[in-house]
Amino acid sequence: MTTIRQEDFIQSVADAFQFISYYHPADYIRDLWAAYQREESPAARDAMAQILVNSRMSAEGHRPICQDTGISIAFIKVGMDVRWDTKMSLAELVNEGVRRAYTDKDNPLRASMLADPDGKRVSTGDNTPAVTHVELVPGDKVEVIVAAKGGGSENKSKFAMLLPSDSIVDWVLNIVPTMGADWCPPGMLSLGIGGSPEKAMLMAKWGMMEPLDIYELKARGPSNRAEELRLELFEKVNALGIGAQGLGGLSTVLDVKVNDYPTHAASKPVALLPNCAATRHAHFVLDGSGPASLDPPSLADWPRLELDLSTSRRVDLDRLTKADIASWKAGERLLLSGKLLTGRDAAHKRMVDMMSRGEQLPVDLTNRFIYYTGPVDAVRDEVVGPAGPTTSSRMDKFVEPVLSRTGLIGMVGKSERGPMAVESIKKHGAVYCIAVGGAAYLVSKSIRASRVLAFEDLGMEAIREFEVRDMPVIVAVDSTGDAVHKTGPAQWRARIGKIPVAVV
Ligand code: SF4
Repeated sequence: MTTIRQEDFIQSVADAFQFISYYHPADYIRDLWAAYQREESPAARDAMAQILVNSRMSAEGHRPICQDTGISIAFIKVGMDVRWDTKMSLAELVNEGVRRAYTDKDNPLRASMLADPDGKRVSTGDNTPAVTHVELVPGDKVEVIVAAKGGGSENKSKFAMLLPSDSIVDWVLNIVPTMGADWCPPGMLSLGIGGSPEKAMLMAKWGMMEPLDIYELKARGPSNRAEELRLELFEKVNALGIGAQGLGGLSTVLDVKVNDYPTHAASKPVALLPNCAATRHAHFVLDGSGPASLDPPSLADWPRLELDLSTSRRVDLDRLTKADIASWKAGERLLLSGKLLTGRDAAHKRMVDMMSRGEQLPVDLTNRFIYYTGPVDAVRDEVVGPAGPTTSSRMDKFVEPVLSRTGLIGMVGKSERGPMAVESIKKHGAVYCIAVGGAAYLVSKSIRASRVLAFEDLGMEAIREFEVRDMPVIVAVDSTGDAVHKTGPAQWRARIGKIPVAVV
């Protein structure tokens, strides 16, 4: 009989969440590097280069890969011959580990969890509670998988009850283009097929933790329906041409996972979950001999890459007018320097509420750019912690009121804008740029100073003013309304030529 001590379990969980905040799994880096070398789309290649460079910097600096350090998830298999030296429940033990990891002094992680999700939505302060799944299995060990899933990719989770005769391939190929780039590709898709609705979802989540092995599968050939589906979907999803960050290109997914389970004769439940560029999971086993120790990957696993910024246009944010930005074209690469405001969901809502009450805003937005971000807290000599872009479409409904009433001329975020937002950008001669989702530590190195200007009570959502130097962004919607997330994937889908391009 093995005895697991409370402190060993808690410390192992805490160490694992710290570990995954700055180490990508080595298989993700290996396959992303291979995809980078194959990629022919310059924009997608550039985005992948930023993700790779960011990943290495995070591994070296022990700071988060992405500012969204995720919802904490744990899958635990408990051997039936295990005894516990604790009075706490397993969920409480995991929560204590999460609390310790997210409030670590040397590498604090962002607390993204909010209580009262349809009410006050108040931060729990330490990213607890985790979502813990437990299974009792034969044996005398405890196997733990922890994962941190960002909101951008979790929000794109899909579930359907298909008819038994429906095609899962058709369903996936219809649904993936509607997910846009909010889930920060290139990543992975994981499907759970069969069982009941909740079983399908859990299988899909579980599949994300499996090693990337699509090329091994290709080489040895499929041995069952799930493996056939993996290969077919891998080829067809990549043929959609969505590409890294939705910019159009050859690699949208680095692997597709399929797990299945028997189901009811009348049903075909299917769950689809994306895993983003910030793929984060770790596995460990406790056998009663003490806390788990996770082997850090070797830095030799990361390619030595330099970013090529030679073709980017340098922009002085402090002297910009609408006339200047009118010449920018969708797809163009820029290096931003100067003063950049920040604000995201809560700040936008508050600004729009103030304007509708006739109140003056605390910050003059005339001829300014705003960056949608919620940074991680700074440590040591950092100006700001990792500060990548958040999903811009959540701010779409604020674009018209803000552009029409404040003089703001530009926005920076990640992934595509909806039609209403694009229309407003065109109407007001503004622009929308993207920074690379999953390159948060790299972006933070462009930020030379930071101060809170307003709404300090909103914490990471406060309005800040960053002083940036050569911050790399891409024009995603130009002042004529041309949108790279529309044109890029359409061009690459046609170029790959395996799936007919829908005429719209
Ligand atoms: S890479 Fe993108 S989807 Fe993933 S956690 Fe970061 S911002 Fe969210």
